Amino acid sequence: MNTMIQNVLSDGFQLPAGAAPVACVDIGGTKVAVSIADALGVRGRVAEPTAKEGGRDALALQIIRLVGRSCQLAGVKSADLSAVGVSSCGPFVLRDGLVELAAPNICGGLAGKARGLPNDWTTALLEAPLRQAFANVRVENDGIGALEAERRWGALQIKGQPLSHCAYVTWSTGIGVGLCVDGHVLRGKNGNAGHAGHLFVSDNDDALCGCGNVGDVEGLIAGNAIPRRFGHLGYTDSATLFIASYAGDTRAAAIIDELCRVMGRTLYNLVVTLDLQRISIGGSVFWHHRELLIPKLQSHVRGKLAALTDGCELVPAGLGERVGDFGALALVA
Ligand SMILES: [Zn+2]
Repeated sequence: MNTMIQNVLSDGFQLPAGAAPVACVDIGGTKVAVSIADALGVRGRVAEPTAKEGGRDALALQIIRLVGRSCQLAGVKSADLSAVGVSSCGPFVLRDGLVELAAPNICGGLAGKARGLPNDWTTALLEAPLRQAFANVRVENDGIGALEAERRWGALQIKGQPLSHCAYVTWSTGIGVGLCVDGHVLRGKNGNAGHAGHLFVSDNDDALCGCGNVGDVEGLIAGNAIPRRFGHLGYTDSATLFIASYAGDTRAAAIIDELCRVMGRTLYNLVVTLDLQRISIGGSVFWHHRELLIPKLQSHVRGKLAALTDGCELVPAGLGERVGDFGALALVA
């Protein structure tokens, strides 16, 4: 994958010589990663577990501190940053036109104590503190950032031309989606278009999502759903589940098939709703097991309502595991 990223960088991404550097911030439910990009490439990468304790500004303060450290590592003055691109898990709410996060994997006040997060936040501050610290800030949901990166440098472009009807889906700690139809990236009234991880698909009462729903896609199959639903069977995370399956554990294999049925139907629903030509898929749960999962997911799309699904491809993310980093970069490069 490193080789692939190098090629992508040298072929597709270069800030012009002398251009001011930008900071790229990727906020996930598990970790926050920051890097600096300029004419020399992407460097100074730092990452930490996402701040979830303290005041509602804890995450924003963490980001400001990490941007400073990343600048130090890259040998760049933070005052010289021309922009800070933030690709974040959502959903967003707008307060005075500025983004706050109402993210189920970060804000413990959304689903209540049963979800087990160490705070009672209903939103985490984001854009307002960042705008006090930096001159130029662009915040988008990470599905949109990743989609833009995949359309520019990854699997959702052909010879540098972005596809017009496509989606990016991440299967990770949570489930995220970015959507593009007729060449337009869909954003929605608060920048939340693509939250298909919260589509209701079941009444399972063991599938509490961080958003408070019971039985939505994320509550059923996201990385953080696996210990909650299957921990009592010994599958304490997705890695344990897949390792057991590879070792011949038929119960683990059946669980994976059921996870793929839910994800496969979600992908089918996106294809038939939006008439898509390609979906690229990333995220840690998917990426580490993509050879196993792609054919299983395809089996839930291919042959169903062929007029809509024929010619639609499911492919691994062209930017691989670093699609999140490139998502933030795509917002400001
Ligand atoms: Zn949900």
